[in-house]
Formats: sequence, structure tokens, C-alpha cells
Amino acid sequence: MTPAPRKGRISDDEMHRLAGEAKDKVNLSDLIIPYTDLKPRSGKRELVGLCPFHSERTPSFEVNDTKGLYHCWGCSEAGDHFQFLIKKNGITFRKAYELLTGGTLPVVSEEERAKRKAEAEADIARRLALAQSIWASTAPLPGTVGERYVRSRGITVDLPDTVRFAMTPRWYNHETGETGRNYPAVVCAMQDRDGNVVGVQCIFLKPGGNGKYQATLRDGKQAKAKLTFGLVVGSAIRLGAPGPHVMICEGPEDGWTLFQELGGQPIMVACGTALLPRINLPECVTSVTLAGDNGEAGGKAVIKARAAYIAQGRDVSSIFPELPFKDWNDQLQRIS
Ligand SMILES: [Zn+2]
Repeated sequence: MTPAPRKGRISDDEMHRLAGEAKDKVNLSDLIIPYTDLKPRSGKRELVGLCPFHSERTPSFEVNDTKGLYHCWGCSEAGDHFQFLIKKNGITFRKAYELLTGGTLPVVSEEERAKRKAEAEADIARRLALAQSIWASTAPLPGTVGERYVRSRGITVDLPDTVRFAMTPRWYNHETGETGRNYPAVVCAMQDRDGNVVGVQCIFLKPGGNGKYQATLRDGKQAKAKLTFGLVVGSAIRLGAPGPHVMICEGPEDGWTLFQELGGQPIMVACGTALLPRINLPECVTSVTLAGDNGEAGGKAVIKARAAYIAQGRDVSSIFPELPFKDWNDQLQRIS
């Protein structure tokens, strides 16, 4: 048995690598079949069955062995091998790792693993190309309805050219090549450590541009106005060229606010709470200030990010908006 990775003894990156290896060797469906019957559905890559997380009569639970992901359209449960084992059995990550690597499960052949790896690489190339084509279709922000949105958030300074405007589709179907209709969007470039644009975050606006995109989905939930395309993990929206000190925050509106309030100090924006600790910082950055959001999720993200950047040998400090404001833009606009 492979020794289980112990949190704290190895880096997060190493743990991700070990967990990835463990997942590659086991079909996710082999873990799930003891709980529910899974069958192929014609024209679909996924296996489908009754959801093991909620009670239902028609199957809405899908498992994709190539990607190693499951998703229920009924109750929104979703995840990978680890999440399934942890949620279904109430066990720890360590225990789940031991189950996966314990040699009791069928092993995916080398050939199949190579095929899946090639598919994953093609998927990355496709996502990168899509993000770069969206970025190539953007225009400068000034004079657009995108600028109107930025101004409506209390931003009066001119933003760097990493924040632009486009009319761009909200969705893509990669199997059929279909795309959704175009909507106006503020498009933020997401750059990797070397400054290459590898992703975009689009803040979609209403057709006329007055306010964020709003729609109610079939399940009654609100559609997301913000969507990211491309390679998001590790990359960040840059406002100003990074120097020895950068400020890191978790959303574009926070970033714009801090950029304005701090007189153009370099800011890096992670796309969401979970990615706050995971930016691949350029070599030149020796100290960071984490500008967190208030609230439980925001506080936890800062604690994780602090540990991650300290482990890289960087000086870390943190700041939060004044209470009762939830984030930096709310504070700017005095919205509580
Ligand atoms: Zn379900």
C-alpha cells in the first residue's frame, strides 16, 4: 500500500499530484456501482443511474470515467473519487486515499490511462484556445456599456488594459460546436506566472448593459453572471505589473476598488475564494498582502492562502474591509 499523504508534511502541490495519481488508477464508476446501478446512455459519454445522494425515480446522476467526475442534475451533488468516498462514507481524506490505493479495486489499464491523458491534454489545449480567442475579440473598455458597469460599481479611475469589453457567447457546446447568443461582457485577462493570457473571466451584463446578466434557470436557481474560460487554476487577473509587493484579492470588483483606493498599487485577483491560495506568483514577488472578504469563507481562504504563500518563503500580511461591509467594493459604495 502506498503511504497516505499526510497534511502538513507535504506541500499542497505534492498532495494534489498524489491524489491525482490515485484517481487515475481507479474508475470512478467502480467506486459508485456498490451504491447504485450505472448504465451507459446512448449518445452520451457518461454512465447514468439513480442518484445515491437523493431519492428519485428517474436517473439524473451522471458519472464520467474519463474525467473522473460525477454530477447529479437533481440535487447538484458533484465531485471526484475523494468527494464521493468522503461524503458517502463520512471518512477522512486520508482514509479515502488508503481505500483508493489499497489494491482492492480494479486497476485501469496503462493503455486506457494514456488515452485519458491524451484526451485531457486536448481538452486543456481547447480551453486555452477558447480563452485566447475570447480575449482576441475584446475592445478597450472606455466608451462601452462595460465601462458603464465598472462606473456603476463606484470605480472612477481608468483601469489597466487587462480589463476590456466584448460581445461574447455565454456558452459553448464542444461536442456540437454550437454557441449561445452574444451578450455584452466586461472581460478580465487571467495571466499565468509568465504573463501569458491563459484564461478570461467574463462578467456578463444585461443586453443593454445596465446591470449584471440575470436569468432564472430551470431548477429555479439564478444563472451566474460571472463565468471563467480557459486555465483558471494558478492564474490571476493583473491590475498593474507585479512588483516585489502585490496585493491579492478574490474578485474583480474588489480588485478594481483596491486599485483605485491604493493609487494603482499592483493587484492580483484570483477567480474565487478557493483559488486565493493557488496563484503562481512571479519570481519578483517577495511579499503579499491578502485583502480578504469578511465572512466565514473569506476568512478561511485567507488562512489557507497565508500558509501557502509563507511556505513559498514570501512575507504575508492580511487586511479585511471594515465591518459590516462584506467586501471591498461594498465598503467603497457603503453598501451593507
Ligand atoms: Zn442527486
